[in-house]
Parts: sequence; structure tokens; C-alpha cells
Amino acid sequence: MLLEVKNLYIDFEGMRGRTEAIKNIHFSLEKGEILGIVGESGSGKSITALSILGLLEENAIISNGEIIYNGRNLLRLQKKERQLLRGREIGMVFQEPMTALHPTMKIGKQLQHVIQRHRNIPAKEAKEAVLQALQEVHIDQPELVAKKYPFELSGGMRQRIVIALAMSAPPHLLIADEPTTALDVTIQYEILNLIQELNRKRGTSVLLITHDLGVVSKICDRTIVMYAGEVVESGPTKEILNRPNHPYTQSLLEALPDSVSPGQPLRAIVGETPSLLQRPNGCAFATRCKYAMDICRNHHPKLAEKEVNHQAACWLEGTVSYD
Ligand code: SF4
Repeated sequence: MLLEVKNLYIDFEGMRGRTEAIKNIHFSLEKGEILGIVGESGSGKSITALSILGLLEENAIISNGEIIYNGRNLLRLQKKERQLLRGREIGMVFQEPMTALHPTMKIGKQLQHVIQRHRNIPAKEAKEAVLQALQEVHIDQPELVAKKYPFELSGGMRQRIVIALAMSAPPHLLIADEPTTALDVTIQYEILNLIQELNRKRGTSVLLITHDLGVVSKICDRTIVMYAGEVVESGPTKEILNRPNHPYTQSLLEALPDSVSPGQPLRAIVGETPSLLQRPNGCAFATRCKYAMDICRNHHPKLAEKEVNHQAACWLEGTVSYD
């Protein structure tokens, strides 16, 4: 196993009090696996990623839990050790490629800089590695692109460069947080295919964070669904898509554009996520759930195995049907 997040709790201290943003989450990622974390904004998926990277904001408090990476608890490492892991062993790709690129440095120089830093090789060798890295992310005419500035490239090209940067160490784990959200649909598929290709070719494990179940359906081996800072369902992606066990997953599936006939309005999930300043006693999804019962409002459902390797936190028995 490469990564295991165990019983993690993260709070944020703010003007209005303490927000319990992550509550008792637990998941693992095997070597060479692609794991999707899916949920609406505010579900805690990005905070989870930032906690693994050691990039949480100052007011974040990890009140309990462990993040075990390659046998080491990341939460016990010094700041400097975590910095070394980032980039060298754990690569990152975020939604907006410009945040990862230096706006006034040519692409080739940026890649060369990172490659030399991580691999400790002479400049001539690093220059060759730059062209190889660009070819690996399917950039045509790499010599030409290496001489360009980020602003001269399209969004899709920039995201390919960011992936090349993230993979240049090369890392054991790639964390991609909404890597395709800012891109056109056709480019989205190309970027997802590229991430999958690099995963298969290099054996790099991938944690893919997205609000879109359509995205996880393309490349993720397993998926966990988060709601209000908790894992509400987890299992093999095919199972989650074909036999959802949690009504929230069902609502996410119903909200996909493919689930409605052409010309019909999209089905949004009605209602809002509860305030994390004061969590409800029972199920956090109860105010939006069409199946809510008395027990749901008063007692918190624990994540439990409903089928082999398929868990859900819901008082309902069996698979949720949807149409
Ligand atoms: Fe709905 Fe109850 Fe299941 Fe929560 S526990 S998702 S309210 S049925």
C-alpha cells in the first residue's frame, strides 16, 4: 500500500468559531492504482489533498488521525522533509495551470530547472530530458514549445506542461485536483487519457479529485464519495456507478448531463450542505435526502460494508435504485 489516511479529523479556526471540515475519514491507495475522490465543492476533497501535501492553511488544525505514506506518518515529519517529498515523490496538478507555471520563464527553462533540482544531473543531460518530458505528454514540436512562454500556449497545452513538470522527478504519487475543470470537453478527455497512460506506463499511483462522477468513470479504479467532510461511499468505480449504495451518490449520478434526454433540464441536487460550524446529530445529507427517516435525523450512520469491498454510510438497506 502506498498511502493510507486513517481516522483523519481537520478543523478550521475562524471568526465564527471552529469548523469541523473533515470528520473521521479513512481510505487507502495501492501502488499503481487510480483513486477518485468525488464530491460537491465544500465536501472536503481538496482539503484532504492539501493535508496529504502538507499545504493546509495556518488556521487548520489536524485534531486526530494519521497520513501514512510509504510507511511513514507524514504528520510527524518536519516541514523541510515534507517540502522534499513534494515534487520529488509526490507530484501535484491543480485546476489552473498558470498557478504552477512561472509566467515570465520559458517552458524549457522551467522544466530544466525542476529536472536538475530533482535528478541532480548536468545541464546538457537535463536539456535532453526536457524534450523527452514534453514528448511524453504528447507535445508536438517539443523544441519549439520549449522556447515559448506559458501565455503563448492554450489551456490544454499548459496543463500538459504542468503534468510534465509534476512527473519529472518522477513521483510515486500524483495528486490531481480538478485537473480538467477549466478545459473544453474534448481537451478534458485528452488530459485524462494522458494521466491514465502515465499511470499505466510508470506505475505512478494517482489521487484524482473532482466534482464530476463522469470524470472518475473514465479512469479511476476505485472511487470514494465525500459529503460534508465525510466519506459516504467507497468502492470499485464500476460498482459505485452501476449500483450506488448512498442516496448522495445517486443524486450525483442523476445530475450528470448524460442522465437526461437531450433538451431536458439538468437535475440539480436540491438544498444545501449543512453548516460545518454545527454538524447535525444524524446524517449530514438528511435535509436533502428523499429517503430520510427518523433514525437518519437523530443517529449518525457509520461507513459499513454493504457488499464486498463496497461501503456506504446510510441507514437504508441495500442498493439505492435510480432512474
Ligand atoms: Fe438518506 Fe438516511 Fe441514508 Fe442519510 S442515512 S442518506 S438521510 S437514507
